[in-house]
Amino acid sequence: MKPAAFEYHSPETAEEATELLADLPDAKLMAGNQSFGIIMSNRLATPDHVIDISDIEGLRYVDVGDDAVEIGAMTRHADVEHSDDLAEVLPLMPEAAQHIAGPAVRNRGTVGGTLGEADPAGNHSCTLLALDAELAVASADGERTIPIDEYFLAYMLTAVEDDELITSVRVSREAFPVERTGMRFTVEKRAAQTWPTLGASAVVRVDDPDADEPVIEDARLSFANAADVPLRTHDAEAEVTGEPLSEGLLESVADTVYDAVEPQDEMHADETYKRELAATFARRSLATAYDRAQGLDE
Ligand SMILES: Cc1cc2nc3c(=O)[nH]c(=O)nc-3n(C[C@H](O)[C@H](O)[C@H](O)COP(=O)(O)OP(=O)(O)OC[C@H]3O[C@@H](n4cnc5c(N)ncnc54)[C@H](O)[C@@H]3O)c2cc1C
Repeated sequence: MKPAAFEYHSPETAEEATELLADLPDAKLMAGNQSFGIIMSNRLATPDHVIDISDIEGLRYVDVGDDAVEIGAMTRHADVEHSDDLAEVLPLMPEAAQHIAGPAVRNRGTVGGTLGEADPAGNHSCTLLALDAELAVASADGERTIPIDEYFLAYMLTAVEDDELITSVRVSREAFPVERTGMRFTVEKRAAQTWPTLGASAVVRVDDPDADEPVIEDARLSFANAADVPLRTHDAEAEVTGEPLSEGLLESVADTVYDAVEPQDEMHADETYKRELAATFARRSLATAYDRAQGLDE
């Protein structure tokens, strides 16, 4: 099928885009068009107006500052994948980006598009949830920020209004000192080009990376495609915080995660399989993040 007829708009600035959103009835944004074109071709969306934001170069950047990392909404997955700066301070993000589909999708798909689409299997949605990111959104009326834990409301439903544009995401670096933080993204996919069957992000900060058994000061664990929305497992995080990581703790966290996730049956992976996968990924990704926090690697 082909998309229903629509009028095409191609703004060059975020301000132009938000004015179009305010002025045009039934308008939708298009970013990298790796998902939206498919949705329109299947007539699951039939907007009268499409606002293509892919020429807004001002929204394509990775800015690593001393206090925070800011990533523009039009930053492509490939930009994240190949960013040396991100690999240095938030290695979770390039690690997750390299597992998104194949190069064609990564060269066009964007961070803002993943968040806008809000598929619970989205890689960046999973990592940004673990990193406690904040979204900056703009409309003709002004700007506001949305903490990511208030962003995903229900299956593919978000806190962004129809007249708003996500302009960037921001991650505070305070919780992630490079010299004692480890991160790990783990994923299973049926084929390189497909979405994750399940993905997991783990972040671990230890008190003293040179100690024999460093104590975990802070742990983050989130999952892709394990519920109707990207899911963070706070109970599992609390279990490992304040302790050195041990086999016993990993077993206990795996049990907690098995019960905490709420996956849907799919053709190639039923609910039980996904629960087992989430439990296994919790164990593996936390263990690797803990090693990495100490400067050890797998
Ligand atoms: C074969 C295939 C495999 C894939 N595998 C994976 C995978 O493994 N992991 C993964 O994470 N993704 C995967 N994707 C999706 C890919 O990452 C897309 O790039 C992404 O989901 C959408 O990004 P986009 O820039 O293409 O957005 P578009 O498709 O252009 O837009 C998607 C939605 O977001 C909205 N939107 C876009 N930008 C904004 C904005 N700035 N503000 C507000 N709303 C906005 C649009 O209106 C639309 O509703 C896959 C896609 C394909 C085709």
